[in-house]
Amino acid sequence: MSEKDLRKFSSSLDDAENTARIRLFGKASKKYEELADVARRLKPEIFPQLQFLSMLYSLIEDIEEKRDPFETGTLDGLLQLESLVGDAELMMTLPGGRFGEISTGRIFTELKAVKYLNQGMANRDAETVRKAVDLFMSIGDEQLIFSRYLRPMMRRSSGKRAALESEARAQIIEGALLEDSKPSEAVSHYMIAVRALRGARLYDEEVKYQRTLLGLRISRTCWFCGRKIQGASHLVWMNASVSEYFKSLLEKNSEDVRMLGDNRVIACRVCYSAISQEANRIATKYHEETLRLIKNLVKRIQALERAV
Ligand SMILES: [Zn+2]
Repeated sequence: MSEKDLRKFSSSLDDAENTARIRLFGKASKKYEELADVARRLKPEIFPQLQFLSMLYSLIEDIEEKRDPFETGTLDGLLQLESLVGDAELMMTLPGGRFGEISTGRIFTELKAVKYLNQGMANRDAETVRKAVDLFMSIGDEQLIFSRYLRPMMRRSSGKRAALESEARAQIIEGALLEDSKPSEAVSHYMIAVRALRGARLYDEEVKYQRTLLGLRISRTCWFCGRKIQGASHLVWMNASVSEYFKSLLEKNSEDVRMLGDNRVIACRVCYSAISQEANRIATKYHEETLRLIKNLVKRIQALERAV
């Protein structure tokens, strides 16, 4: 590279950096793209870094223009450069007014974590979500750069809190899978999730899953089959006439008095569905029988009318 070319190249680099500094990210991205093209021939050692900056500013432009970088492909585009760029300190302008020398490794770590969390939650895949936990943990107490602009978080967070949130998400996915078949195993997943949500300061969700936990811990005896059943979703209250006699009967026999309420009894889902289906079948049969009788009556009345 001649002295003159070098000077021109270096002033174009300054110009691109200033363009990013005044937050014209779309323009800055194009300038770095052109510079990367020149560097490929003249200064190949900085080609990957210029490509990185071009893609980074394209992603930030998406964010500023309220486009979703997961959909436009800029997030994946940037992550694809990881093996090429490695960990390098580069002058960058970032969302939220941050500017200075920042490591590309830090950017890759955060964006990879956000991607795993988003993907894992969308596919209800706890293993993928867990990949985000360690990545966020490595960022520690430092504030995240992109979390408030990217799904699924869309809020400010530190690395540690995002790691706790990811752990909670993984536990919730695992708990939900066991909720129906093994409620007592689901309980331990939701317990960890609730603690992690508190640590992540997601208090509304903490309350929501406390309630799930409460429901799962409920255990009652079915009045009809006498089985001990766990989980609110497996139990149904049914209307019934319940006099004091039956309540004291349960007490006398040292049975679970909680299966009776004021004019209602608790049934497991199986008993409830069997009883209601049978009741429906009988009701339908009587309904059809009544309709047939009415039709006959109408015919007889019409015949009588004609006879008059
Ligand atoms: Zn039952």
